[in-house]
Amino acid sequence: MVDTETLGLLRCLGCSGGIAQQDETTLRCAGRGDDHGDGDGCGKTYPVVEGIPVILTDTEDEVGSVIRTFYESEWKAGADAGDRVVPRARVAHEDMSGLGQRYIYKNEARFGRVFEGMGSSGLFLDAGCGAQPREEFGAGFGKHVCVDFSIEGLIEARRVLGDRALCVCGSLLDLPFKDGVFDGVLASHVLYHIDAGQQFTAARELTRAVGRGGRVLVFYGNPVSLERRLAGLARRVLGKKRSDMRSAARAFYFHAHPIGVMRGYLADGFGAGGLGGGRVRAVTLRLFGRRITAPLFGVPVIGGVLYLVVRVVEIALGWMPGLATYVAYVGEKD
Ligand SMILES: [Zn+2]
Repeated sequence: MVDTETLGLLRCLGCSGGIAQQDETTLRCAGRGDDHGDGDGCGKTYPVVEGIPVILTDTEDEVGSVIRTFYESEWKAGADAGDRVVPRARVAHEDMSGLGQRYIYKNEARFGRVFEGMGSSGLFLDAGCGAQPREEFGAGFGKHVCVDFSIEGLIEARRVLGDRALCVCGSLLDLPFKDGVFDGVLASHVLYHIDAGQQFTAARELTRAVGRGGRVLVFYGNPVSLERRLAGLARRVLGKKRSDMRSAARAFYFHAHPIGVMRGYLADGFGAGGLGGGRVRAVTLRLFGRRITAPLFGVPVIGGVLYLVVRVVEIALGWMPGLATYVAYVGEKD
């Protein structure tokens, strides 16, 4: 069975009506205007797997393949990384060294204040969290809602968050939630893994799901960063080919739109549907990515000193998000 709090948030993808429990392993559309459902819905049903509602669009094939992948998966919590489960996409894109992780953590922790004072009864949406819910960002809220394509990721997220977690299997392109139900929404390094042409849709869905006075935080890439320019310069000076690390990263789709474009997507989302507007600003998340930090922090003996140098450079240049490799978008809905 699915708890009533989760059921109350869910939106039928066929008709945007509510969703009700049909039996132990099935949910059904309850239609519009009547969340208890008197059979006036569009007739769509949705499976429940391991207690997690699977609210996906499109064809039965898509739903079937998500469920099949789950049952056939060799994935087990902590199987290859101790207690920590690290998605392969992260390993491909991030500096996984101790200093590299500290650099990432310190910069992201600054954004905890975006959600400060949002109310301890509020709802926090962690969009595309996979197996790594951002516990620190949702801590001030009443419940931490996880939505992701991966059922195994959600089961791990639920294990990490315990009773605070409400988990739903769904797509960021057609969020299975009613309008304006969240007080805070986070999309941490997920939008740039979505097809370039569909990121606008995802941005609109995130802004739709947040309520008035609520805040949206998006961690995202910047295609014209200082790092990228330096890497290009270094290649020309040293006559090197693009480094091999790119081949590992290439297995995971990545496309970051320029700052003006993504900020526009989010601002347009706030203005959609006559639900008022909102403000969106872009702020430096971190100046450098692994192309700079991995070689610098990895230098024997003086890696720690170079870490401090990078931090100083970051403080000096942090006010210019156009230079940053990763940008944070902070939005507030009027
Ligand atoms: Zn329906």
